[in-house]
Amino acid sequence: MSITSGKLFLVATPIGNLEDLTPRARRTLDESDLVLCEDTRVARRLFGASGPRARLRSLHEHNEQDRAAAVMEALAAGEQVALISDAGTPLISDPGYRVVSTAAEQGYTIVPVPGACAAVAALCAAGLPTDRFAFEGFLPAKAAARRSRLETLAAESRTLIFYESARRLAESLADCASVFGGDRPAVVAREMTKVHEEFVRGSLDEVSAVFAARGSAPKGEVVLLVGGAAPAPAGDDAIRAVLGPLLKELPKSQAVRLAARICDADRRYVYRLALAGDEAGDPGVA
Ligand code: SAM
Repeated sequence: MSITSGKLFLVATPIGNLEDLTPRARRTLDESDLVLCEDTRVARRLFGASGPRARLRSLHEHNEQDRAAAVMEALAAGEQVALISDAGTPLISDPGYRVVSTAAEQGYTIVPVPGACAAVAALCAAGLPTDRFAFEGFLPAKAAARRSRLETLAAESRTLIFYESARRLAESLADCASVFGGDRPAVVAREMTKVHEEFVRGSLDEVSAVFAARGSAPKGEVVLLVGGAAPAPAGDDAIRAVLGPLLKELPKSQAVRLAARICDADRRYVYRLALAGDEAGDPGVA
């Protein structure tokens, strides 16, 4: 790579409201020599009346391998390349991974130009815990595969975020309710940043009922969020494993109080486990 090597910019674009194109994103696109996009007609709307200075080239899953090679040539020639998707942050359930991983392997400079992302917009407005979350992209379209994916997530304690098509929303809500339980909290974020933006909040059963009552499938784009599973209470073995070493160092009442706090267990229950250990002649319990 020469010192005149180009740079690859990953530019986020609006998810509905064109005012969400940041000044830096606009300038980066205007200054680029080559812009990779999903649909060149959609991309043209991001440029002013005079149109793009850059060459616009389509990028999708079927041509990404070939495009990656062309992008490396452009970067080697010192060009500024921008990668965008139709909406939101590129690579997030959108093309671009191969291009970026190839550029990273070859040591080119990769510059994120952050902006809208439907998953993050939905999460921060949902009212569900945001400290830890799991972005799951799109669920499988086929019912059996979707249910088995959900089953792998049943014990996940982080807030779950799914992209979903409005057409399949009712089925996915029903599957989530049957796998996670209908009383798990859920939010559907629909048409964010657009005229008909709405957030439907409630339990999975309640959110399903809201959309069922409307009759037809909702219009537009949706993100589905589901609150994480409550942590499973610690089993007796786990409590004993914590309690044992504490009993060796501390008075029983103190050891019990600490073990109960660490295991998020009932103090009287932990005390009974400590007594049962005494009766079994096991002062260390574990
Ligand atoms: N890369 C994009 C991003 O950063 O958000 C996501 C692209 S993915 C192909 C499209 C999905 O994002 C839609 O099916 C929907 O789940 C979600 N989405 C995009 N725009 C949205 C909006 N304005 N409101 C709600 N969901 C949206």
